[in-house]
Amino acid sequence: MKSTYFTLIFALFLAVSCSEPKESQLINNTETQVDFALAIHGGAGTIKKENMTAEQDAEYRAKLEEALDAGYKVLENGGEALDAVVAAVKVMEDSPLFNAGKGAVFTNEGKNEMDAAIMNGSDRNAGAVAGLTRIKNPITAARAVMENSPHVFMSGAGAEQFALTQDLEQVDPSYFYTDFRFQQLEQIRETEKTELDHSSLLEMELKDPFFKDRKFGTVGAVAKDKNGNIAAATSTGGMTNKRFGRVGDVPIIGAGTYADNATCAVSATGHGEYFIRTVVGHEIASLMRYGGKTLAEAGDEVVMKQLVEIGGSGGIISIDKNGNIAMPFNSEGMYRGYRKANEAAKVMIYKDEK
Ligand code: ASP
Repeated sequence: MKSTYFTLIFALFLAVSCSEPKESQLINNTETQVDFALAIHGGAGTIKKENMTAEQDAEYRAKLEEALDAGYKVLENGGEALDAVVAAVKVMEDSPLFNAGKGAVFTNEGKNEMDAAIMNGSDRNAGAVAGLTRIKNPITAARAVMENSPHVFMSGAGAEQFALTQDLEQVDPSYFYTDFRFQQLEQIRETEKTELDHSSLLEMELKDPFFKDRKFGTVGAVAKDKNGNIAAATSTGGMTNKRFGRVGDVPIIGAGTYADNATCAVSATGHGEYFIRTVVGHEIASLMRYGGKTLAEAGDEVVMKQLVEIGGSGGIISIDKNGNIAMPFNSEGMYRGYRKANEAAKVMIYKDEK
């Protein structure tokens, strides 16, 4: 009788201890946990070492490092991933080196119209704006849409009207002018003039060497904070010579910008039309959620296969809740960098850099 009693107790103990998940089962133990981390990009495209001067190379690296430092500081002090991605993106928006904020590309009409988006992984709240012309840091307007309005996406005159009520830094549209970007527009206009009689708009764009050689200077950041939350932010001037109210992938939640604590945070750069059609950010998250893929596997599948199959060039930066980072791109280069807790910043430009 006594021994049956002990057998029962022992069996009960075994059942309880086996059903309780062990620590190794709770975390994705194929990858390491990082306390906090962030990654940034400053655009992808035909970026080759032989086409850059040593000064340009150094200038880009210094600015990327400054952006990483700004985000890292926020995370190190216990700040939110959301604040970190905004801090990093603002540094790049303020630099004429990138196609976002100061240095944004020109529309066909010779204007700078900027798009931006932000997403918070903990509650999947998001904010996006398209076609802004007067807000110095469009990413702050995207955040205001997320936090101070019941909406997710505002565009054109309405978005501007809302942003102007938000106590955000305003500038005259001429602030965004840079010679370099204006020359890019004129170059395209010139090609158009010679092609116009013979080709459709689509044919022209496909033939246009500038189009093929396109450098995408969009900026973005993803981060994981000490609380385990992740976030993504992206900001852009779009594509040179854009017209008809064209909006790219950047402010389309799920395409150029996406974040969900359950999977990953993604910020993209590249030929937006293809990124929209592939729904890049959400596709990567879905491959993780339903396909059981790791961050790196999911990113490769979308950027190196799905996008390539339909002719979409560019890349993404991504982070998951463990602080793993993946930055696949299918173009010649991508301005990019990352910094993990207690590690030095790593900044890269060309394809072969690891
Ligand atoms: N993805 C952006 C767009 O299509 C362009 C870029 O990445 O530079 O608007």
